[in-house]
Amino acid sequence: MSKLNIKTGDTVKVITGVDKGKDGKVMSVNPETGRIVVQNVNMVTRHTKPRRQGQEGGRLSKEGTINVSNVMIVCPRCNKPTRIGHMIEAGKKFRACKKCGKKID
Ligand SMILES: [Zn+2]
Repeated sequence: MSKLNIKTGDTVKVITGVDKGKDGKVMSVNPETGRIVVQNVNMVTRHTKPRRQGQEGGRLSKEGTINVSNVMIVCPRCNKPTRIGHMIEAGKKFRACKKCGKKID
C-alpha cells in the first residue's frame, strides 16, 4: 500500500491554495514526490508552438501537480472530506474513514 493513503480514482477536496474548496478525481499519484494530479485542479495553461509550417500555435490547459497535503479525501460513504484511518479485516489492511468509520477501499 502506498504511504500516501490516496489512490488514483479517489475523490478529494482541496483544502488550501488557490483551488481551495474544489473537488475532483485523482488522476495520478506520485508516491516519491508526494504530488498528485486532480481533475480540474491547478489548471496550468501551456502555450504550444506550431509544429509544422502553416499550423497555428495554441494554448493547452492541463492539470498541474499539487501536494498531497493540500487535499483531503472525500469519503464515498458519508460524502465528507475526512482523514484516513486504517482497519484490518480478514487479515487485510483497508483504508477507513475517520468520520463514519466505514471502509473506503
Ligand atoms: Zn465516511
